[in-house]
Amino acid sequence: MFGRKSSIEIKNPVQFERMRAAGLVVADTLQLLRESVAAGMTTDDLDAIARESIASAGASPSFLGYHGFPAVICTSVNDEIVHGIPGQRVINDGDVVSIDCGAIIDGWHGDAALSVVVGEADPEVSRLLEVTETALWRGIAKARVGGRLSDIGHAVEAHVRASGDYGVVEEYVGHGIGTSMHMEPSVPNYGQPGNGPKLEVGMALAIEPMVNLGGRHTKTLDDEWTVVTVDGRWSAHFEHTVAITAEGPWVLTAHDGGAERLAALGVPTPAAPER
Ligand code: MG
Ligand code: MG
Repeated sequence: MFGRKSSIEIKNPVQFERMRAAGLVVADTLQLLRESVAAGMTTDDLDAIARESIASAGASPSFLGYHGFPAVICTSVNDEIVHGIPGQRVINDGDVVSIDCGAIIDGWHGDAALSVVVGEADPEVSRLLEVTETALWRGIAKARVGGRLSDIGHAVEAHVRASGDYGVVEEYVGHGIGTSMHMEPSVPNYGQPGNGPKLEVGMALAIEPMVNLGGRHTKTLDDEWTVVTVDGRWSAHFEHTVAITAEGPWVLTAHDGGAERLAALGVPTPAAPER
């Protein structure tokens, strides 16, 4: 995986703007889903909302038909980590719903995910979500020229480990993104810093920690998609698509480009609040 620098797609500024357009469709769709999700809905209901949101923006869903995936979004509930298929499952008060969404504009992809607790949240679950999302931003903060790829996963893991006894999923990782959803390089959520390709202007990475209340181990259900925790403990998943620019990370799937969260970490970014 490492040492194949030439296999990482490099984008120019015009291409980053196209990825930004796709990223904003994903951001809009995830915001709408976060505002819409409620007890009594099915995960199919969420998929229908996403389908309409992406279509009305003139974009195409990245996931539908991807290796035969049958829906627009992934919905992973409670002990489901990733790749859950929307269906007739009814969402209950207190459930954690992880929603993963990808969209394409002019052939360029955006990919992001979030977890949300529906209704009354167990404090332990709320904290899991906060730890996972903050770990994502710690990783994004390392998506900078002068660093190495493994700095990202190290920052993610270090934050999770410092926050408590959580399981950091290893079987599923982030990825390069651009003219395809999944490209070189893989972006693990663990490891030592200072390894792997040098981070360069024009790279785009989807960074996506999956963190469990219990152990890190996973298994795939008989539907051949849904990934769950082996121990049945609940899981959270947050993801953003990040462009590496000379001015710092530009979070293409955040409405503000990451300005607020990165400023809080003291990281420069080209993102302007009005974006
Ligand atoms: Mg995703
Ligand atoms: Mg992804």
